[in-house]
Amino acid sequence: VPIAEFQGVSFMLADMATGIEAARSTYLAAARRRDAGLPFGPQASMSKLLATDNAMKVTTDAVQLFGGYGYTTEYPVERFMREVKVMQIFEGTNQIQRMVIGRSLTR
Ligand SMILES: Cc1cc2nc3c(=O)[nH]c(=O)nc-3n(C[C@H](O)[C@H](O)[C@H](O)COP(=O)(O)OP(=O)(O)OC[C@H]3O[C@@H](n4cnc5c(N)ncnc54)[C@H](O)[C@@H]3O)c2cc1C
Repeated sequence: VPIAEFQGVSFMLADMATGIEAARSTYLAAARRRDAGLPFGPQASMSKLLATDNAMKVTTDAVQLFGGYGYTTEYPVERFMREVKVMQIFEGTNQIQRMVIGRSLTR
């Protein structure tokens, strides 16, 4: 039986796909606000925060799913996880994104 057919694994895959779809929808919503000439700062911050935190979770889970092969440098999965980490740091760390979002709520 392929491991993807085990319920525990398919739940992980479902959560990963759902997170990716949520991140995509959120950044598109921010982009639509910008195109419409509406304020989009907090939405852009939410989008960066959600997409990068989710990408960290998804790539970490992907390493887990691939087991030992996921951890070795022979396959690209560990590289995806390492490369995503910096996205939580640059272009405004995710703590700073939370500050921007928090301020927009209490202003
Ligand atoms: C690969 C890479 C490429 C980069 N490319 C560019 C680039 O092209 N152009 C550019 O200008 N910069 C670039 N940077 C810099 C990047 O934007 C900074 O690393 C980032 O802004 C974080 O700043 P810092 O490293 O000084 O961390 P610090 O500001 O020292 O922060 C350290 C930690 O403390 C947290 N922290 C800091 N202040 C607060 C606060 N008030 N409240 C809560 N937490 C806080 C941060 O979130 C972080 O977790 C790049 C960085 C990397 C790693």
